Amino acid sequence: MAAVVVGGGLVGLAVALELARRGVGVTCLERSVPGAEASSAAAGILAPRVEAHGDGPARALGLQSLALYEGWLESMGASPGFRRSGALVVGDTCPDADARSLSGASLSRIAPGLAAKCAWWLPDEAVVDTRRLVGGVRDACIALGVRVVTATVHRVERGGVCLIDGEIIPGEVVVCAGAWTASVGGLEGVPVRPVRGQLVALGDTQATSAVVFGPGGYLVPRTDEVVVGSTVEEVGFTRGVTAVGVRHILDHALGLAPSLADAAFLRSWSNFRPGSPDGWPLVGALAGVWLATGHYRNGVLLAPLTAKLLVAAMLDGDPLPAAWAPDRFLRRAGFGV
Ligand SMILES: Cc1cc2nc3c(=O)[nH]c(=O)nc-3n(C[C@H](O)[C@H](O)[C@H](O)COP(=O)(O)OP(=O)(O)OC[C@H]3O[C@@H](n4cnc5c(N)ncnc54)[C@H](O)[C@@H]3O)c2cc1C
Repeated sequence: MAAVVVGGGLVGLAVALELARRGVGVTCLERSVPGAEASSAAAGILAPRVEAHGDGPARALGLQSLALYEGWLESMGASPGFRRSGALVVGDTCPDADARSLSGASLSRIAPGLAAKCAWWLPDEAVVDTRRLVGGVRDACIALGVRVVTATVHRVERGGVCLIDGEIIPGEVVVCAGAWTASVGGLEGVPVRPVRGQLVALGDTQATSAVVFGPGGYLVPRTDEVVVGSTVEEVGFTRGVTAVGVRHILDHALGLAPSLADAAFLRSWSNFRPGSPDGWPLVGALAGVWLATGHYRNGVLLAPLTAKLLVAAMLDGDPLPAAWAPDRFLRRAGFGV
């Protein structure tokens, strides 16, 4: 079998890698630099218990993907700053059945800069440095013979894709075009939209060693900086960082950890989460092609599991999670499924 993966973000690269490992000849078509969009922009939080907001398939699938992470990275020989940092959640409401309350010296040891005197502690949540992650997966793909090609896909259909210059590339099609999925010809009805998020990096490594979630933002420790975020904006594909966005982020970050007021402002950036109507991905077959898109706030977390399950469905006919079925809203929208 030959496969054509549309989009070389983390999801597309993860799918390409899994297909190549199963002996499929893969061409990955990326119009820009692999990983240059949402995937390398992401904060790198791997926190299924916080993101799922309760028990259910989202939590279970997130936990499965997190459990795959270390082995997935080891299999590539990549070490992009994956760390079981744990996560602290500041607020009155217990975020998850696994959370326990932390205060006093135990809390200060983990997050000396935190203003709050107590927080909910989830020790198994993790972080990964997305700046390095995408390069590691891309290199593993190339080492296995995946052809990563700079090209813009105009249209997809059963059995192949058509590029903007008219060239046809045959193969089983997998669309991993992130926020741009609905702009690919043939997929105009797919309800994936861009949701802009801005982030700021500050020159601090002391305020916290764990991810911190507050009521309006988060802090993500890296070896050389802390990433603070984020905005959630419905502005279409308008790129950029705004004054009000940065003010919002810094207000929340300094509220969580006042000591960050003295940290150097290193940089700011933004990109587009691929949002779906319920915030969970669309992974499965649709009108003769395969989709792996709409991962919204959790595409970094869910990339290994998405690749594993999608490729098992493609090659072995295994069932995919119903919670990710593309036709859960497309039937209602009248899309041909
Ligand atoms: C500010 C921010 C913070 C985030 N933080 C986290 C986090 O902490 N944890 C987490 O799990 N997730 C996080 N996310 C979400 C995560 O980044 C996304 O869910 C994930 O990166 C989606 O991966 P993707 O490969 O689908 O999309 P992308 O990385 O956007 O890749 C899609 C690729 O498709 C290419 N493409 C599009 N159309 C075409 C075409 N026609 N032809 C060829 N190529 C095409 C694009 O150029 C792009 O490279 C965050 C996102 C943002 C914006």
